[in-house]
Amino acid sequence: MHHLRILGVIISLAGLNCFPALGQNPARVKPTLIIFSGSDWCLPCIRLEKTVFSTDTFQSYSARHLQVIRADFPQRSTLPDSLVGYNEVLAERYNPEGLFPRVCLLKPGGADFEVLRTSFKDAEGFIAHLDELLPKAEIFRRKALLMGSAFEFSLVAEDEDRARRMLDLCIAETQRLEALLSEWQSGSEVSEVNRMAGSGAVKVSEEFYELTKRSLQISSLTQGAFDISFRGVSLWDFKGEELEDWPDSALIERQLSTVGYERIRLMGSDSIFLTDSNMAIGFGAIGKGYVADHLRKILLDSGITAGVINASGDLTTWGYRPDGTEWKVGISNPNLPENISFGLPLSNRCIATSGSYEKYFTFEGVRYAHIIDPRTGIPVSDKKSVSVISKSAELSDALATAFFVLDTEIALDLAEQLPGVSCIIIDKNDQVFTSADIRLNQ
Ligand code: AMP
Ligand code: MG
Repeated sequence: MHHLRILGVIISLAGLNCFPALGQNPARVKPTLIIFSGSDWCLPCIRLEKTVFSTDTFQSYSARHLQVIRADFPQRSTLPDSLVGYNEVLAERYNPEGLFPRVCLLKPGGADFEVLRTSFKDAEGFIAHLDELLPKAEIFRRKALLMGSAFEFSLVAEDEDRARRMLDLCIAETQRLEALLSEWQSGSEVSEVNRMAGSGAVKVSEEFYELTKRSLQISSLTQGAFDISFRGVSLWDFKGEELEDWPDSALIERQLSTVGYERIRLMGSDSIFLTDSNMAIGFGAIGKGYVADHLRKILLDSGITAGVINASGDLTTWGYRPDGTEWKVGISNPNLPENISFGLPLSNRCIATSGSYEKYFTFEGVRYAHIIDPRTGIPVSDKKSVSVISKSAELSDALATAFFVLDTEIALDLAEQLPGVSCIIIDKNDQVFTSADIRLNQ
């Protein structure tokens, strides 16, 4: 495979935008602060602006927690008429006595507003006053064994009952997707498609069809390093043990001839056909990322404004922790997976890791990971861990697997060319490589 040069046109054709990415601004209903000020004649207003509202402390707090509306009433009016009119409408409702300065707090969903004290000498005092009045959010967590892996859901909510119901929904929805995508459940859509390989197209759900379509796009984006038809090669047992005999190369070659994403046919708008009777597909390298994105969307739509879905290392984060800080994620040390090699702050972004410590076998002192190189049919042995950060857990998941297959240099090159994609690679010699925008604290 030669150096991958991804041109803008190829990226848009590959439809990076069609991955279920996080929006720039996840819908979030924040409390609103309305500040009435006479900015050029009211001395207490000027003092409050200087000691509280213009400080970095307040600015960074308000960016995370508040929506701020300023209703300014300068004496020599320099404001456009429309803004003067808007300020007057606000004043009629929230400051009928015309007091300056005056600061009102409107909580989400509440019809009423509260008038805040304004006698503060610094931003910290004002923020403490606000914190007493704002609803208290907490993180509610649940762990569960799903899709054969350890999942952990963390949701930020004010109401425990609601958080519980949402956590139950996460589990039920993951089980539903597992029943669709599992290669081990004979009733799953993937099993049906595999059963019909070489003999006929199978009508599938829209969700399954779209996931397959995106999988094929990632295959062409990665020149086939990611390939859901990898399952045509079924010679390897990743039991964490020493392999007794290396399979016969003619057999590997024969099985490899059934691998090839180009031979997966999308028929019409709802059917899938595997064109060779020995073909089989599997979503092990992308399914958990899809689940994470899917759950995040459901939760955001239901008004859960912050959380983390950790599908066994493939995870999505949105919003912030209740204290306004970013979520922290750890990348496992591939030599001691219970320990963390690197910690990263991460909010409104997703990360996925493929590791040779998950499922593997060894042969003559070399460790082979459960990721198969579709060019050779042989499991990859030159890396220990690949993490990919992007706006979509599904894309991160699939690219982590693809970068595992590609040569390190090519993987880094590809990551640099994909907008919003970063990666961290630990090779078999424990050497760490990152794309240019990553800074790691060990
Ligand atoms: P991940 O941990 O996301 O890298 O996924 C690994 C899983 O993806 C394996 O257990 C296989 O089920 C599947 N897989 C292995 N090799 C490939 C490949 N080259 N392309 C797509 N899926 C693969
Ligand atoms: Mg993956």
